Amino acid sequence: MSWSLTAEQETIQLRARALANEVIAPRAAEVDKTEAYPWENVAALQEAGFTGMTVPTDLGGPGHSFLDAVLVVEEMAKVCGVTGRIAVEANMGAISAVLAYGTEAQRKLAAELVLSGDKPAICITEPDAGSAASEMTTKAQRRGTDYVINGKKHWITGGGVSKLHLIFARVFDEEGNQEGIGGFLAIRDETPGLRFGRREPTMGLRGIPEMEVLFEDMVVPQDMVVLPPSGFGRGFGDLMNAYNAQRVGAGTVGLGIATGAYELALDFVKEREQFGRPVAEFQGLQWMLADMSVKLEAARSLTYRAACSRGPNNSPFPDPAMAAQAKIFTAEASISVVNDALQMFGAAGYSRRNPLERMYRDVRMFTIGGGTAQILRTVVASRILDMKLPQRRDGFTKIAERSQP
Ligand SMILES: Cc1cc2nc3c(=O)[nH]c(=O)nc-3n(C[C@H](O)[C@H](O)[C@H](O)COP(=O)(O)OP(=O)(O)OC[C@H]3O[C@@H](n4cnc5c(N)ncnc54)[C@H](O)[C@@H]3O)c2cc1C
Repeated sequence: MSWSLTAEQETIQLRARALANEVIAPRAAEVDKTEAYPWENVAALQEAGFTGMTVPTDLGGPGHSFLDAVLVVEEMAKVCGVTGRIAVEANMGAISAVLAYGTEAQRKLAAELVLSGDKPAICITEPDAGSAASEMTTKAQRRGTDYVINGKKHWITGGGVSKLHLIFARVFDEEGNQEGIGGFLAIRDETPGLRFGRREPTMGLRGIPEMEVLFEDMVVPQDMVVLPPSGFGRGFGDLMNAYNAQRVGAGTVGLGIATGAYELALDFVKEREQFGRPVAEFQGLQWMLADMSVKLEAARSLTYRAACSRGPNNSPFPDPAMAAQAKIFTAEASISVVNDALQMFGAAGYSRRNPLERMYRDVRMFTIGGGTAQILRTVVASRILDMKLPQRRDGFTKIAERSQP
């Protein structure tokens, strides 16, 4: 698997960089301070054609690749992590699952929403089902041609500001027999029983709400059920496969924030003088900068490679192991790079007058959200050992055994 940017991709990158520097950067501190969702940034992304980028041409979209979207995410995140995350969700989050598995009507609905600036929310995590996501208890009970959904999710990015919500729930037939896990589409202000609870007071990325989302006898008609290709029985795997695009996007936000911090540090050390010379002349900082550049280049290579990859069995999504490798390395390297950049600023790095402290808070999340660094190591180990490692006390089974009918 290799990647190199085409002339068209370089143009996308330059356009995104100009928008980020001219429009998004001046607002970043205010977004963090007010914790208000940056609707103006969403409009700017949409006007530039940076939402719905991956919507195919037959649905009225530009049909861009995941790598094209990654280039935009990276540029936004360099100056504003929140806007980077919005660019992920508007191009490669829940939208990817609906475009791949949805009915024509669902695909059209989702395409129209993202092309007009919506950032669909993906609702998986529950208070008692975090890393063990398949232990979710949100219940979708079949009733005639509808499903009635009850349960609670938390830490849902953009819950309540997004219009489209893709909800994972445990499905039961009319007789109460469990069928597996499916995806259900609900629309803010339209779907009865869709409610929003408390907002999490987060360490960073404060302009985007992390919400409790509640389902109180929420009625979802059959035509809003996203039926995974393997059916409900093994549907969780299909739905989580779609999440690999989001994972690559999440790693990219970390990469962007770290690159932004590195570039600020690079300018600062050439200007700041101590002992009668720029601090860039001290080898202690030179080697730190060299290590930072190595980490960023390695992270970028893994991330772009993952964006271009495809999983087994003609999957339309990035390869799970490559997406996990990219996110583990990028998230950890990004935290380290921002930490070092802040160190180079001395006391100024610790002040809220400068963006480093915001970047430090923002970047911390990427080893947690979208699959922790520990769980993603399990994904990689599962591939290299050719074993399914479910972590449950009943042990593991070989992939080959599991695939037997
Ligand atoms: C900013 C942010 C945004 C998020 N956005 C969304 C969203 O939009 N939609 C959504 O559905 N969820 C979202 N999440 C939730 C996120 O996916 C979960 O936080 C994550 O899956 C971990 O679950 P948990 O927090 O319950 O931790 P836990 O699962 O309770 O884990 C606790 C610790 O144990 C470790 N651990 C758990 N199991 C194992 C194991 N088998 N082996 C080794 N270590 C293990 C974990 O790595 C972690 O360090 C978001 C989270 C954050 C922080």
